[in-house]
Amino acid sequence: MRDKSIVIIGAGMGGLSAGIHGQANGYRTSIYEAHTVPGGQAATWTRKGYSFDGCIHHLFGCRPGSRLNELWHELGVMPRELVATQECVAVMGTDGRLFVDYYDLERLRQHTVELAPADRRATDAYVEEIRRCARHDFFGEMIFGSKAKLLGMLPTLVALCPSFTSTMADLGARFSDPLLRDGLPLTLYSAPANPAILHLVMHAYGMNGDIAWPVGGATTLARSMAERYRILGGELHLGRRVKEILTRDGKATGIRLADGSVVESDLVVSNADGRSTIMDLLGGRFVDDRIRAYCGRNPASDETNWAVHVFLGVNRDLSKEPSSLVMLLDPPVDIAGHTCRSLEMQIYGMDPTMAPPGKGVIKVELFSRWSLWEELARDPERYREEKERAADKVIGVLERRWPGLRNDVEVVDVPTLITWKRFMGGDRGFVNMPTKTPSMLRSLLSSRLDSRLPGLAGFHLVGSWATSGGALFLNALSGRRVVQDICRADGRTFVAAKRRQ
Ligand SMILES: Cc1cc2nc3c(=O)[nH]c(=O)nc-3n(C[C@H](O)[C@H](O)[C@H](O)COP(=O)(O)OP(=O)(O)OC[C@H]3O[C@@H](n4cnc5c(N)ncnc54)[C@H](O)[C@@H]3O)c2cc1C
Repeated sequence: MRDKSIVIIGAGMGGLSAGIHGQANGYRTSIYEAHTVPGGQAATWTRKGYSFDGCIHHLFGCRPGSRLNELWHELGVMPRELVATQECVAVMGTDGRLFVDYYDLERLRQHTVELAPADRRATDAYVEEIRRCARHDFFGEMIFGSKAKLLGMLPTLVALCPSFTSTMADLGARFSDPLLRDGLPLTLYSAPANPAILHLVMHAYGMNGDIAWPVGGATTLARSMAERYRILGGELHLGRRVKEILTRDGKATGIRLADGSVVESDLVVSNADGRSTIMDLLGGRFVDDRIRAYCGRNPASDETNWAVHVFLGVNRDLSKEPSSLVMLLDPPVDIAGHTCRSLEMQIYGMDPTMAPPGKGVIKVELFSRWSLWEELARDPERYREEKERAADKVIGVLERRWPGLRNDVEVVDVPTLITWKRFMGGDRGFVNMPTKTPSMLRSLLSSRLDSRLPGLAGFHLVGSWATSGGALFLNALSGRRVVQDICRADGRTFVAAKRRQ
């Protein structure tokens, strides 16, 4: 079977994982990646001695022995140097008070009660819900667990039922103190409509040590996977953009690269953005109503969080700062076409490799619209000016916490959705999900991905399009699942890639 070949388009989490598992199962694989570095959205880059990470807030699967940790072991991502942060996120009120959502539950309880004594009951209930979530490795068991394990989680799930239907806004509304009432809803990526259960589970994972920061940032994960892939005999071709997926009689037969060269293969797996894969690389020939609807445009997705990042390399020690901070703003500030009532940022003081000694990095994440930046990008001068204006306003706001910060700023970098599109080839930056209701639960439980196209054999999609999920482990898992599918179709028993010691 060694002679069966798979060509993989893209070296993101899904593509690298498909390559590693493909190699481990006796297929001859090669990955063609448009960018000059592997990793896709898992990107970290350097500017004048500072490292800027465009990706990781929470890396799941860091606790030795956990199910997700095992997934990373197979891919060569673990073991690695990790830093556990003390808090999930902190919130600074307009009066300067700070709420720290400590992972440690006793510390969290004490701190919250001191901050808001009248909210003792709401605090106790919040802490208790996290404690319940911490009893199980929910994601790991849903992916790899036995039926008995899943059944064992039922009582906890029943007890947590109200949190499944409530939002982060509902969670905040239980508190009377304005800092908690207004701040707590923003602690899950500044999106009060997000389900509260996700925050509770995330907090529980952090408390159990399953979430940590990988020293050096997201790129280090991708590099480890690329190295593992090469060690297993895979061929990784960087700086090679794929222009077309070749088909014959309803079967994928290979790819044509931007330089015109052709690579033939038995199977093709695409980790590239689904819409571009289906409509451009395959010319829209393999669609039905469902896929056509997926490829449609949800007008609501024009505006997104993380559309613009303002990275600052500052001549200031930030090692005592929380790793993640939301600042509440009153009055609001207009930045990048969005009225900001709060600003969310990551502060990398926990990782000395991210900045020269004694200095620090702040990443501020902004909501903005794809259409705004698409229009601005037609005029490079206006595009540049708007980025500078956004950075200037952000620095002005940050002065409220760090007076004099403006004078300490040594490097500014402002990637937008246009930057993501340039480097990743998606049709709207990284917002490349299909138009369907994303369901983390479905992505976790379903062993079948949305990885096939009607009328096309020998072809699979991996990554964000197939999972509709924005998580590193989930998209890495999609590569594993596709190789499982391929093995099944070939009548072979899937073998997990061996752990790296
Ligand atoms: C701002 C941000 C923050 C995030 N934070 C977290 C977090 O805290 N925790 C977490 O778990 N996840 C996080 N994620 C999500 C996570 O990074 C993604 O879910 C994951 O990296 C996506 O992997 P993927 O398999 O979909 O591949 P992608 O990363 O989408 O990679 C696809 C690859 O295909 C390549 N490609 C595209 N077109 C072509 C072509 N024509 N030819 C050749 N190559 C091509 C691209 O260059 C790219 O390398 C974050 C994402 C973003 C953007």
